[in-house]
Amino acid sequence: MYRLGIDLGGTNIVAGLCDENYKIVAKASCKTNVPRPESDICDSMAEVAKKACEKAGVSMDEVESIGIGVPGAVNPKTGVIEYSANLHFHNWEVSKMMNERLGKKVLIENDANAAALGEYLAGSAKGAKNAVAITLGTGVGGGIIINGKIYSGSNFAGAELGHMVIVKDGKECGCGRKGCWEAYSSATGLINLTKEKILSEKLDYSFMLNKICGGDINKVNGKTAFDAAEQGDPDAKEVLDTYFGYLATGLVNIINIFQPDVLCIGGGISNQGENLLRPLRKIIEEERYTKHNDKQTQLCTCTLGNDAGIIGAAFLD
Ligand SMILES: [Zn+2]
Repeated sequence: MYRLGIDLGGTNIVAGLCDENYKIVAKASCKTNVPRPESDICDSMAEVAKKACEKAGVSMDEVESIGIGVPGAVNPKTGVIEYSANLHFHNWEVSKMMNERLGKKVLIENDANAAALGEYLAGSAKGAKNAVAITLGTGVGGGIIINGKIYSGSNFAGAELGHMVIVKDGKECGCGRKGCWEAYSSATGLINLTKEKILSEKLDYSFMLNKICGGDINKVNGKTAFDAAEQGDPDAKEVLDTYFGYLATGLVNIINIFQPDVLCIGGGISNQGENLLRPLRKIIEEERYTKHNDKQTQLCTCTLGNDAGIIGAAFLD
């Protein structure tokens, strides 16, 4: 039997057909094109689901269940997307509507939770008992796996690790609080730190960070500081040291609270690999509560990329 996972994103809808070994055997996608009516989006999801099956030469009869990962607050019990800022929907009975189209059991989950489950089943946290996955993107997404199960609290809205405050009265966060981890440690946070540094040097073109983005501050991205640091630029190193400090503060908090076997980092910045992990491990070693335990949390990068959310969604239960 096969399972189907759908990643319902703000930009794309991607369906992946998975075999019993958590491997995606075929994928199909289309644009999400929001805002548009719920029923239209369900039609598109059903279409890409069928297309993925066709590509693999698998009939829908061989598909055991379908899972959907959604950015926002979802209720996996009722199959209702309660609220999604990206998709502009409230109280959308997506499981029921998809079941009507495909005649299958349809489960839903928050996309960060689904991605954490994917990494746990088939990626960097494979073989772990307890794992935490974070994604450094526009914000900081978090997913917590305890004893092999997604933990999202009594109302399914938990695991918002990006919204723990690390600087009291700090930078404004999109959630309304000040000083959230996400405001400092997301890719956006790093971009802001890089821009602040460039502006402090009055946009001097001889300044490496400014040179790398071609003198256009709007071209600063999550790689700019890493690229400049690689060329030995001391200002970029300073930016990164500040960034690593904020990022590690949250990571140490997570380790102290959960003591997971694996803590994995995903998102574009995780492509920096050891250049990211090495300095973080150093701070974690100095600051973690359990310095003398034999068993310590393994910090690593996520290995499945966007596939994690698809695989996790496919294997929801
Ligand atoms: Zn926040």
